[in-house]
Amino acid sequence: MMKIEFLGTAGAIPTPRPGCHCELCERARRYGPPHARMGPSLFVHGPDILIDTPEEIRLQLNRAGIDHIAACLYSHWHPDHTMGRRVWETMNMDFRQWPRQPRCTPIYLPERVAADFKVWLGLDEHFSYMQRHGTVELRIIPDGESVTINGVRVTPIPLAAAYVYAFLLEQNGRRVFIAMDELVGWSPAEELRGCDLAIVPTGIFEFDFFTGERRIPVDHPVLKSEATFRQTLEMVHQLAPRRVIFTHIEEPDGNTVEDLARIAQVLRDREGWDVTFAFDTMVVTVE
Ligand SMILES: [Zn+2]
Ligand SMILES: [Zn+2]
Repeated sequence: MMKIEFLGTAGAIPTPRPGCHCELCERARRYGPPHARMGPSLFVHGPDILIDTPEEIRLQLNRAGIDHIAACLYSHWHPDHTMGRRVWETMNMDFRQWPRQPRCTPIYLPERVAADFKVWLGLDEHFSYMQRHGTVELRIIPDGESVTINGVRVTPIPLAAAYVYAFLLEQNGRRVFIAMDELVGWSPAEELRGCDLAIVPTGIFEFDFFTGERRIPVDHPVLKSEATFRQTLEMVHQLAPRRVIFTHIEEPDGNTVEDLARIAQVLRDREGWDVTFAFDTMVVTVE
């Protein structure tokens, strides 16, 4: 059984955003989840696999009561997915012990992510530093290969943007497809069709879902770098999962929890999908 907990369901711009007093941010401050969203991360209970470490990861792990992480996967180098990386020192180091006996967490990097870590944000430098202290052990997954972690087979799936991977998790014939971000330009391979659960980034709202009114100017560069919600829906059509959950929900898109619930209802009625938008602390089970 895989039990998936959404530790953080925001994208690059979590909710509430310091200094912002929009309705979304004010409700998030007042009520917390489901209105408040921390950076993108999720945890798979059972195999105890963490995917990505946004800057709030320490808070997220405490909130979820997660004591043990068997392994961490990184989907790509972008800061909203990696900037909580110091959590490995926080969790695994205890300076009262001498000689040092740190806990050590295996960190799995798909091949291209490992290469990017050497180029961006000092990631390789910091992870090598932690590895020297013994709090992490870096393991590269070559393209086309899988690893098995506590009985779950994990396969990195390269997406269209060359720097990012989704992950296919398989156990007892169940298949869970998890894309943390960056579906731009992607179309799913045939073998992913009909997976039991697909977790995908929502994409940005170029258009208002209900009125069709344009929200983002046609020449805005973000439309080249990010998949839109409409494009994401097309990918879900092709993927045809038994269940789909949208996450990586950006504050600037301005959708309230109620807006997202209404959109999900329209998709259920119109497409017949089993579809929901994730919120922080949400748990789903695949058995
Ligand atoms: Zn992201
Ligand atoms: Zn706001």
